[in-house]
Amino acid sequence: MRARFFVVIAGLLVSATLLSAQARKTLDIWVVDVEGGNATLFVTPQGESVLIDAGNGGAAAARDAGRIMEAIKDAGLTQIDHHITTHWHGDHFGALEELAKQIPIRAYYDHGDTVQPQPASTEFLAKVYPALTAKAKRVIVKPGDKLPVKGMEWTIISSGTQTIQSNLRGGGQRNPYCAAFKKQDVDTTENAQSVGSHITFGRWRAVHPGDITWNIEGDLMCPMNRIGSVDVLFVGHHGQMVSNSDVIVHGLSPRVSIINNGTRKGGQPEAMRILLNSPGLEDVWQSHFSLLSGTEYTVPGMFVGNHFDEEPSALPKDAWVAPPQGTQAPPAPVHNGKSYWFKVSAQQDGTFTVTNTRNNFSKTYRSGAVATN
Ligand SMILES: [Zn+2]
Repeated sequence: MRARFFVVIAGLLVSATLLSAQARKTLDIWVVDVEGGNATLFVTPQGESVLIDAGNGGAAAARDAGRIMEAIKDAGLTQIDHHITTHWHGDHFGALEELAKQIPIRAYYDHGDTVQPQPASTEFLAKVYPALTAKAKRVIVKPGDKLPVKGMEWTIISSGTQTIQSNLRGGGQRNPYCAAFKKQDVDTTENAQSVGSHITFGRWRAVHPGDITWNIEGDLMCPMNRIGSVDVLFVGHHGQMVSNSDVIVHGLSPRVSIINNGTRKGGQPEAMRILLNSPGLEDVWQSHFSLLSGTEYTVPGMFVGNHFDEEPSALPKDAWVAPPQGTQAPPAPVHNGKSYWFKVSAQQDGTFTVTNTRNNFSKTYRSGAVATN
């Protein structure tokens, strides 16, 4: 009797698993709020997963690993198949050690060793990363490389300051924004090294450029737009103005831009202007209201993922201006409490839905409605 009971239960579990596997037809994406860091999880209909970055380290490692694990559980994953570290800054690899204690990671992708040794990254790369990759696979990627993810095409578009040299499908147009593009001083930090990704699922397209900075954006997008347009831009560098030139933002002409910013990181007026007047743009979604935006340069509250722990009764209209150099700035508003992700569900025909899990506001962007630029 007991044995038959277990057979029946096991049978039910198997059919539930099969049903859920069959039921999933979308590429699902969790944009996890890690307070101005990055952690973006992609899961294919077959359940294969790619996680880009793992949030902040130090005192924030447990918090951010916990937030990423919540998304992983929501996705029903038992392992991460592919983990990309865009670059060796603490807001991107910080919680990776903690996360790897909580879930197996099968393959690691990065641009190579750091060019900007800092105590945390040096220690991580000397001691922790070799131990993690010894149990898995480590791939140092170059532009043009593909990630072996079934059912979609994942192309590396930048890595180690290099960018793709041939056109992706849909790319190859002259980029009209290049004419006015001016290079800035060379960025010798890890940001410029970022691993950038182009992601396609059927007719749906997205770019996640990591934290690549201004000049690399120019290399990637000029004089030819090798990428074409995208449905979603996972905005580079937390929406900071040292990145997000119009050659990339307007060149890619996303229907939707999603910014993983902090309470006082990213969202400066200059960056918001470029993001918000992008041709063909339908909406910008922001993980946080940023004091650097003020209400003047932010999006409607429905499109904002997270509040502060102590929400003021009124938010400032003007963008916050840093005090003069040498003066102590007041601390940024804290958000260590419950966090909410944006969930993006993309269909093969290019239709996709973005949901703000804080307020359950959800919007569907239908295929075929793409504006031209
Ligand atoms: Zn960053």
